[in-house]
Amino acid sequence: MQKITKLIAGVFCCAMVFSSSAYAVWLSDSQAIMGTSVTVELWADDEPQGQRAMQAVFTEMRRIDKAMNPWDEHSELAAINRQAAIAPVLISDELVQIINKALFYSQLSEGAFDISFASVSRFYNFRAGKKPSEQQRKAMQGAINYRNIQLDENAETLFFSDKRISIDLGGIAKGYAVDQGIALLAKHGITSAIVSAGGDSRILGDKHGKPWVMGIRHPRDKNKHALRIPLADTAISTSGDYERFFMEGDVRHHHIINPKTSYSAPAVQSVSVLANKAIDSDALSTTVFVLGVSKGLALINQLPGIDAIIIDGQGLLHCSDDLLMSQ
Ligand code: AMP
Ligand code: MG
Repeated sequence: MQKITKLIAGVFCCAMVFSSSAYAVWLSDSQAIMGTSVTVELWADDEPQGQRAMQAVFTEMRRIDKAMNPWDEHSELAAINRQAAIAPVLISDELVQIINKALFYSQLSEGAFDISFASVSRFYNFRAGKKPSEQQRKAMQGAINYRNIQLDENAETLFFSDKRISIDLGGIAKGYAVDQGIALLAKHGITSAIVSAGGDSRILGDKHGKPWVMGIRHPRDKNKHALRIPLADTAISTSGDYERFFMEGDVRHHHIINPKTSYSAPAVQSVSVLANKAIDSDALSTTVFVLGVSKGLALINQLPGIDAIIIDGQGLLHCSDDLLMSQ
């Protein structure tokens, strides 16, 4: 059964203008998809239409998950990982677009963002507290290298020129899925909504003339916010070392891998990035997490229309120049 929460039953219709069943509502629902919680909250001028729009978003998210889950042997991504080192593999338009964007951020960050991180990360099991053995790391040395991922945009093929490569789109696919969700809502005539997949969110419009207030989680206390920021018509992604991790003494082994070392990136606790699209905020939050405070902010400050908030290893806040200037 569907769990639709009517947050505010607002404007009731005039029978002369709308059918008697049409009334405006806030609708909100969450479902477990893409290994995380996907939430859609929207304002609908007509409830049934709003519910259709919301279900369309969940259906789209499940479709994307089915194609891009590397652990599902039937997914397109798993097939690529099995075949692309043998010969160039034909891939979907959608994957051409996402992998192209991933490679763009790899070049921009000189390899801090690299979807071939999976060549080593596939040996981690964060739930079971398992990390790659030294032998496995040695065997995979140099395998994380986006330069060996050869995308031919015209032929729509992908080829790995290192047989050890596996790719994983976990640092960018949720952002892409959120953008797809927002595009679908807009197509259904929705003008005020938020779509989130774990740490990646995008806001459509505002909330009846006021901004949405988004909380950035305190990295060491899940019940607290480190910060709240008012936002409208923007995407925000947060990458944190608290999402998937296990401790070994004082060492936190978590899911964001520094491609240069093949170990978890140690410099910061969380990074939030603001951008127009969630595919960009998603990839950049992971990128800046790997780069750390000074290199990360230097990168963000050169990108127009992009901002970042970093919580460093000591819990101190750092912001990109435009955010500081707008205070
Ligand atoms: P996010 O939640 O956006 O920070 O993304 C974290 C996810 O990105 C991880 O769970 C991995 O799937 C993926 N990831 C980890 N390290 C990297 C990296 N260096 N480059 C690209 N993706 C990564
Ligand atoms: Mg990200």
